[in-house]
Amino acid sequence: MFSKILIANRGEIALRVIRACREMGIKCVCVFSEADRGAPYLALADESVCIGPPPSGKSYLDISRIMSAAEITDVDAIHPGYGFLSENAHFAEVCQSSGITFIGPSPEAIKLLGNKTSARGVAAKAGVPLLPGVKENVESEEAAIEIANSIGYPVIVKAAAGGGGRGMRVAHNEIALVNGFLQAKSEAGLAFKDDSVYVEKYLEQPRHVEIQLIADKHGNTVYCGERDCSLQRRHQKLVEEAPSPIMTPELRKKMGDAATKLAKEAGYTTAGTCEFLVDSKGNFYFMEVNTRIQVEHPVSELVTRTDLIRAQILAAAGEKLPFKQSDVEVRGHAIECRINAEDPDHDFRPCPGKITRVFVPGGPGVRWDSHIEAGYTIPSTYDSMIGKLLVFAPDRTQAIARMKRALTELRIEGVKTTTPLHLRIMNDRRFIEGSVHTSYIEKELLAK
Ligand code: ADP
Repeated sequence: MFSKILIANRGEIALRVIRACREMGIKCVCVFSEADRGAPYLALADESVCIGPPPSGKSYLDISRIMSAAEITDVDAIHPGYGFLSENAHFAEVCQSSGITFIGPSPEAIKLLGNKTSARGVAAKAGVPLLPGVKENVESEEAAIEIANSIGYPVIVKAAAGGGGRGMRVAHNEIALVNGFLQAKSEAGLAFKDDSVYVEKYLEQPRHVEIQLIADKHGNTVYCGERDCSLQRRHQKLVEEAPSPIMTPELRKKMGDAATKLAKEAGYTTAGTCEFLVDSKGNFYFMEVNTRIQVEHPVSELVTRTDLIRAQILAAAGEKLPFKQSDVEVRGHAIECRINAEDPDHDFRPCPGKITRVFVPGGPGVRWDSHIEAGYTIPSTYDSMIGKLLVFAPDRTQAIARMKRALTELRIEGVKTTTPLHLRIMNDRRFIEGSVHTSYIEKELLAK
């Protein structure tokens, strides 16, 4: 087992990894940028090292600075968290060649699955259902039109290297397709330094349902149920829950088996997520694989009573998974609300600044994963997520009541947050019925 891990991340996920390390008796090192100097979670690590100025390109995304910190502190492994370098195959390779374990899949598996076009190829090989479209990148507007004519509108142009909802354009006709193709390409080029795009059928009002995978280096791959992440804004998740309100044991087994086959086909190890879209008839289609731990992993931890970060670290260290598929049982209901420092009344513009007061909800079945405290200043340089409020209850109705109660208790003063929007969602008839879809927030709830 590792004796010391470096956490190449910040904020709540850095704290989540510190907590797992502490329970496992592993020492941990946190790196931080000048913007995070003095952040409260750093005091909980065994050591912390400043790696540069606030811009992430000069700190959290700078491989040479992170590797220097790893060498100085003599760690055996690096946990990349989510975002930043977590899905960077080159970083995983650098770790490997420096004799430091990257806590994630192999560089080969990241390359294969991190690119949405090549991941579609792997899914097809594993017999996982795909939306109609192509398994190659689309090079020209003419080629995009030809594909759209053969599969029928609406279609979606997607960046092969995409993430965070960027580089995607929906088109209902040829003119929109040509514009969307050029826009997606230029957005992708700027955001990901790779402007390749592909075209697939756009599913109207689907649900986003994803399967949590965990695999060791001994050929054992287990799925830990699903998460429903249909409540999104601009293709970014806001609320996640497990189990999915539309799930049946049969569909869970089918989707779980499909995700497992895909992971095996790619030689996947450690934690990962296979994302699917599900239509109103319960047909599911592969969307992409996230080759890292995800923000919303705690909802799966709650309903399956597992510690996914611990399992991920064990798997990376070459140990056998601590549980088998038959041990994983989905019980109860969990909901997560992402608390972002954003102003819901002003188009969700980020709201960095000083937090003057915090009151954290507690009581039965409440979990708060966050790095903030009163007096903490949210830097403007990074993501606006400042905490994840989670609840767990015996069933969905009780979980919703508990989340409403917890959201009412939560007090964060000094900055605007998405808390009022979450309360609105928890009181929304369609959410309560479980009949929402991926454009529900934007097209219906916020349009009211
Ligand atoms: P990213 O990697 O940027 O998060 P994803 O491929 O995971 O992108 O897609 C994000 C969201 O975009 C999905 O949850 C869904 O709401 C929407 N989406 C993507 N592809 C399609 C599609 N073919 N049909 C309908 N919605 C889609």
